[in-house]
Parts: sequence; structure tokens; C-alpha cells
Amino acid sequence: MGIDITKMRNIGISAHIDSGKTTLSERILFYCDKIHAIHEVRGKDGVGATMDHMELERERGITIQSAATQVEWKEHTINLIDTPGHVDFTIEVERSLRVLDGAILVLCAVGGVQSQSITVDRQLKRYHVPRIAFINKCDRTGANPFKVKIQLREKLGLNAVLIQIPIGLEDKLEGVVDLITMKAMYFDGDQGTEIRYAEIPAHLKADAEKYREELIDAVSLFSDELAEHYLSGEAVPEDMIRVAIRKGTLAEQFVPVMVGSAYKNKGIQALLDGVNNYLPNPTEVKNYALDLDHNEEQKELSCDDKSPCVALGFKLEDGQYGQLTYVRIYQGALKKGDELINTRARKRFKVGRLVRMHSDDMEDITEGAPGDIVALFGVDCASGDTFCGSSINYAMTSMYVPEPVISLA
Ligand code: GDP
Repeated sequence: MGIDITKMRNIGISAHIDSGKTTLSERILFYCDKIHAIHEVRGKDGVGATMDHMELERERGITIQSAATQVEWKEHTINLIDTPGHVDFTIEVERSLRVLDGAILVLCAVGGVQSQSITVDRQLKRYHVPRIAFINKCDRTGANPFKVKIQLREKLGLNAVLIQIPIGLEDKLEGVVDLITMKAMYFDGDQGTEIRYAEIPAHLKADAEKYREELIDAVSLFSDELAEHYLSGEAVPEDMIRVAIRKGTLAEQFVPVMVGSAYKNKGIQALLDGVNNYLPNPTEVKNYALDLDHNEEQKELSCDDKSPCVALGFKLEDGQYGQLTYVRIYQGALKKGDELINTRARKRFKVGRLVRMHSDDMEDITEGAPGDIVALFGVDCASGDTFCGSSINYAMTSMYVPEPVISLA
């Protein structure tokens, strides 16, 4: 049962405190795992009862704090990695950023870019983490996502461009206009689970055209094919726009800006589509290790299951079942029963219990795929240790990236 690595996303949510990171994380778990959770309960009591919303919330609370939680969204596997809210470059921040391949930068539609947004964005830039910006709280009085987009450009120096505009703002927020499909998207029902696509409301048509033009103009830089269509006045196909956005985002030359409200359940499913569409899969990110047997030569790791395993223990957790070590697998597969070596401690160990964390349960597995994040039980190690298949002796390199030298000439 092979996992399709190209459909895997390892992402973090970075935010200024109070911008809604926790609420957004909860909603993501809710939308991705809802069916799964209801199904589980049915199985347990056998009478077909379903969990009410509060029960679901409580269950989710248990693992929302876990270092990495796996969810499924439209045939994609998303590992949500907890990024510590520290404002400085501690080793803990470094490790959590190292295991991310992409991020959602959350901003408040009222507060906009604040000092801590500048810090977290600097961290993402320093570790070359491509990102989507999500302007949250569009339902709040004073919300102005258009102004926040300008701040992203001016204060953070990002090539940030709206790929959606809101339908209504403040207490009139109803949904979003998708500037790629040029369709309105409404999130109906108590929990926004009923998605309704419709024509763009008449009063927003001119704005939608204007912002779409801005988007296509900006991404034409990343695709010659798109630029040709655009210049010749031909209609630009939706997929061509998506591919160009993805290319620009992965190259860190573009930041797609999405809008909504986590609290009012508006826009989250579209944001998850954005994660699948625009953030990288593990094969699209370069990772390196030092070969300790060959003068610490730098080796590029290969995200495939044929090469010997290289994994990084990035977080230790004392849980009710003993010490849990979260690992990101960078190369090869990691299998139960394998013998691995902790290359710092020079200790060999056998992979015992191997698990994956979901929002409401812990699943025992026999194998982790390259690129994936899993947790091991009972491994004596320190955070930051590298585990390798016994034929190699690598250490994951430090991510320290020197500050750019600014020329005054
Ligand atoms: P965090 O500090 O970034 O994790 O933010 P929280 O998720 O804890 O949210 C901070 C406060 O903002 C809480 O009172 C939330 O209920 C509220 N909040 C979060 N998202 C939204 C939103 O989309 N709209 C509004 N109006 N409030 C929100």
C-alpha cells in the first residue's frame, strides 16, 4: 500500500498571537476528519449514534496540542506541524521550521501585519518555507483584507496577491469569490459545511475582474505559456493560472493571499484546497545531511523508498503511553522491526511501536513513507538526533543560514 508522496503536505501555521491560529487549526481538523470521527463512534457503540459538535470539539482538543497531526483533504495527506510561538531563533523553532515544507501565514483582517507577523515571516524566509497568507477574521468590525494585502507587500516585502476576494465583510461576510474560477463560493449551514458555488454577485463583478487582472499579471512572470495567452488577449485556462501560482510560490517569489473567518467557518475548505494546490510536496524540497564517514561531505537526500532511511527526531513528548519521538522521514522508508542507528549517540536500536497521530486517535502503523511524519515509542534519544539505516552514517545538517550581506555600494 504505497502512499503517493506527491499528495503529501507537511505544513505549519504561523501567526501573530490572537490572529486565530488555534481556531483555524481546530477548524481544519474538523473539516478534514469529521466523517472519520462520526464513523468511529458509530463503530464503538454499535447503535449508530453520532457525536454532537461539542463532543467532537472535546475529542479534538486532546490532540490539537500534539507536535504533528495528520489529516486528509481531497485525497491529500496533510501533516499539520505545531510551530512554537517563540519570537526568536531558538533551536526548537529551528527544528520545527526544518520539518515544514510549507506554511499558512495567518493575519487578522483588522490588526493586519503586526510586529510578531514580521518576526514569524522573517523565520519562514530564513528557512525558505513557501507560504500562503490567510487573512482571517474578515467578519470583525473594521476588517479590511485589501489593506492587509498592501501591508504584506509593503511591510513584509512579499509579492502578495489576492487569489480570492471576500463576499461581504464584517457581519455581512458570506463567502469568497475565487478569482481563478470566477465563481462565488458560499459556506452555508451552522458549520459552513455546505459549500455552494454560484455566479459572482453583480455588485462585485467589476472588483473581481480588476483583482483577477492583477493576479494574472503577477503570475505571468512564472509561466511563459500564461504570459502568451495573457498578452494575446486569449482566455487563460484555470489550470494554467494554478500552475503559475504554484511555481511562483515554491520559488518563494509569490504569496497567494486567501481570505475568510475561522470563527464563522468561512473559507477554510478553500484554504485547504490552496494548501493542496500551492504548497510543495516533500519531493519538491531539497534536504541535506552530512556524511559522517566521509569528512562530513554534504549529501543531498533523496525522497524515495529505495534509499537507506534518514530521519530526524524533532520533538520528544512524554505521553500516557511512554516517550514518544516524532520523526520526519527524509529518505527511504522507516519500518517496524528495522534496525536504525542514532548517529549522534552511536547507538543502534530496533524500531518497535510506530504510530501516526490523527485528530482523534493514534493509529499503529508498520511503515512510514519517505517525506512522512510518524512517531516512535521507546527510543532513547535527544531532540535533533538523526536516525539512519545501518549502511549509512549521516547527520542532518544545521539549518543555520547566514544573514545576507547587504552591500552599501
Ligand atoms: P491564536 O492566539 O492565534 O491561537 O488565536 P485564537 O484562535 O485563540 O483566537 C483568538 C481570539 O480570536 C479568540 O477569542 C477567537 O475566538 C477569536 N477568533 C479567531 N478567529 C476568529 C475569526 O475568524 N473571527 C472572529 N471574529 N474572531 C476570531
